[in-house]
Amino acid sequence: MGDASAMQPLSSKPAFIDLSHALIPNETPACDGHPSYNACCVLSLAKGGIANVHSLTIGTHTGTHIDAPYHFFDDGITVDQLDLSLLTAVPIVVADLRSKKAGEKITWDDLKKHEERLRSGVALLLCTGWSKHWGKPDYSQHPYLDPDVASGLIDMGVRVVGVDAMSPDKVTEEAGDSGHVHRIILGNGGVIVENLRGLEDLFTSGIEEEDMRLSILPLRLGACDGSPVRAVVWSRKVVL
Ligand SMILES: [Zn+2]
Repeated sequence: MGDASAMQPLSSKPAFIDLSHALIPNETPACDGHPSYNACCVLSLAKGGIANVHSLTIGTHTGTHIDAPYHFFDDGITVDQLDLSLLTAVPIVVADLRSKKAGEKITWDDLKKHEERLRSGVALLLCTGWSKHWGKPDYSQHPYLDPDVASGLIDMGVRVVGVDAMSPDKVTEEAGDSGHVHRIILGNGGVIVENLRGLEDLFTSGIEEEDMRLSILPLRLGACDGSPVRAVVWSRKVVL
């Protein structure tokens, strides 16, 4: 056992950091043209049913969710075909971009200090702090990723990029989502996670970034371009 970290005392207390928005019927925001989330009780114990059962109205991009390549490419893989090794217990790099203003570009300079850890198998989480605008009119005016940076990340082997905003791309009222970063990442075997929340909690969690592990598992939805996910981070030193 040459791994010094394996010699550290293990805590028995699970400590998950939940990076997912709660889905609340008729309240969860949805992009234009996307269905609004709703849950409808179709069987009810209170009404003499054998159990409580709900039917759902939900979009593939509702709440915290993952985009599969098929979202932007007709010949791209669907969400049920994603490689789960990209999405299960993966190491992360969390970039603190909270100083970025509305509509400001995220450049290489902003990510430079993380360069050493950005490699294949690592998920990059962009903490813009924008999740505090969730459900408000200015939610779409988030900072956005320079498409050249997206290309660079792909070259470095990064395949998972998550953001605490509606898109890593520039979104404008007139043109909608520019789609540039989407095409680069989804077109090169990557995935995008959107509408994360609470990324700033990772800076104060007491967990060293190298010890953080992330899981972002989509539903196994056949023929679909994306899926809501439950995104959680924990310390690899914690016995689950
Ligand atoms: Zn999406």
